[in-house]
Amino acid sequence: MELFPALFIGHGSPMNAIEDNEFSREWKLVASQIPRPEVIVCISAHWQTNGTFITAMDEPRTIHDFYGFPEELYQQQYPAPGNPVFAEEILLHFENHLIKPDYSWGIDHGCWSVLMHLFPDADIPVLQLSLDLKKNPEDHFQLAQQLQWLRKRKVLVVGSGNIVHNLRLIDWQNVNHPWAEEFDRLVKTKIDKRDFDALVNYNLLGDNYQKAIPTDEHYLPLLYILAMVNNNSKIKYFCEKVSLGSLSMRGVMVEG
Ligand code: ZN
Repeated sequence: MELFPALFIGHGSPMNAIEDNEFSREWKLVASQIPRPEVIVCISAHWQTNGTFITAMDEPRTIHDFYGFPEELYQQQYPAPGNPVFAEEILLHFENHLIKPDYSWGIDHGCWSVLMHLFPDADIPVLQLSLDLKKNPEDHFQLAQQLQWLRKRKVLVVGSGNIVHNLRLIDWQNVNHPWAEEFDRLVKTKIDKRDFDALVNYNLLGDNYQKAIPTDEHYLPLLYILAMVNNNSKIKYFCEKVSLGSLSMRGVMVEG
């Protein structure tokens, strides 16, 4: 059975949505290396809820969930359709209504700012899965493992966040903090060793973790993608770089 790739993307600044830069160019390159999915299921740092939800509307709206950016960014639309039938199928995979349908969210910038580059035609249905605020990292990882079957169905699972994400320590001169680069490399080393326990228990990853992960909503989408890895998977990286001092742009592609 052919398994579809899964992607973790470091989305960084919302401006990446409309910029032709080193990151957006690499995202386009990644899209050219994978087959066309039938559905995209995106776990974005920017949708946190009480309980786990999946978007189940026909026409998800484009959400401009950021402040103080140029008007051009607010005018962007990503009019991809939803897929309520497939959302229902995902719900039925979970017992006791563990995941509930959502009809009010849409596609937030964690999702559309990268999909605009990967799939600019916006013609592939997009579902978003929320991050349950009540779950701990281990719970998130276990939930994600129950989504592995999506890879057998030509579904592209995308986690969108940042491995290192500290907005208070951003450097607009683009001078990277050594601790940010160190932490990003440490996470890569753990991924290479398939030491996912260490990544789930990120609070034991040395002295820098509190600066790298002051809150974990941008880190958790990585766990959803690592949960897609099996014994035969290959892992590749893209955008292996820290940006603006304290944002790791590292992307992870799981194949096979
Ligand atoms: Zn973000």
